[in-house]
Amino acid sequence: MITEKISWWKSRLTDVDAVFASASKGRVSTLCKSAGGRGVGMIEYGQPRDYNRRANYNSACGARDTRYYADKTGAPPVILLVGAIHAQELEGTAALLGLINIIETGRDFRGEDSALGELIEESGCRLIIIPVMNPDGRARCEPDSMVGLTNEDLRHWGQGRWLDGTLCGWPGCKSVHPIKEAVSFLGAYYNDDGINFMHDNFFNPMAAETAVLLRLAEDEAADYTILLHGGSNCTNVLLQPNYVPPHIREAVRALALRTAELSETAGLPSSVQKISDDTGTPPPSFNLASAIHHICGGVCAVYESNQGLIEKNSYDAETILRLHYMLFEGVIREAHGVRL
Ligand SMILES: [Zn+2]
Repeated sequence: MITEKISWWKSRLTDVDAVFASASKGRVSTLCKSAGGRGVGMIEYGQPRDYNRRANYNSACGARDTRYYADKTGAPPVILLVGAIHAQELEGTAALLGLINIIETGRDFRGEDSALGELIEESGCRLIIIPVMNPDGRARCEPDSMVGLTNEDLRHWGQGRWLDGTLCGWPGCKSVHPIKEAVSFLGAYYNDDGINFMHDNFFNPMAAETAVLLRLAEDEAADYTILLHGGSNCTNVLLQPNYVPPHIREAVRALALRTAELSETAGLPSSVQKISDDTGTPPPSFNLASAIHHICGGVCAVYESNQGLIEKNSYDAETILRLHYMLFEGVIREAHGVRL
């Protein structure tokens, strides 16, 4: 089932191309080619920083001074926003394309004026946006959003179908990796080689897309990286990364609290995850969010959004979009460390 198109909801690869083509303030480039030969595009605002780098992050930590990796004295923060790692989770993509249009024109695709662009300019931050990290998955996913669809639709487009035609599901979809040869329909979780970037081998990446994202975070010494995901009909929430030092957990919580405050003020639902040291057995995965922290030292977290399924706790498309704007405002303000 494919729901009726919402005119302002833009999440197709052709939408990304069109938004990039019309951008004049941002600089557009292609990070890499996907497994299926599609370009992974990004747009950047603000100038690159010169960090006087002498060592990688790990080595600088070993030298007991992270300035050997990135001397950030006086440098405004770098924020990296990444959409559609799982390409049936298109809430982030729609919001990021809206954000780009706000920065470029002052309003989003609903025609709503927004002060987010001015806030970004005032903050002086360097903002890097990747609307679709997984173009292969996006090309495979026919719906433009999951709003109005069922959990079964989500599983089909997201995790795909095993060789016997039954639906893959979470977390079983992670039990074969790469999954390509084990499925009759490859879901949008994966690139064309059947790789799920969230659970790549980060010490020897299986996917070029994962490798290039890690390199970008490292090169930029990203202060905040937000991986935009969908989480069925959850209340939108920032997830705590599993393997990071306490100050990063605190920073994720501070961002979550700030975003919740902004959301509540706007009359929108919010949720803040507790910090927990309960690792359990088997231990939680060292996923992309943890990996990005360890390569650049920055805050990195997964943001899970409600997807508007016809199930309990369904949000409409506009609420989903506005909640992302609250997150974007939160991260800009939090990265600055002062109330702009
Ligand atoms: Zn996801």
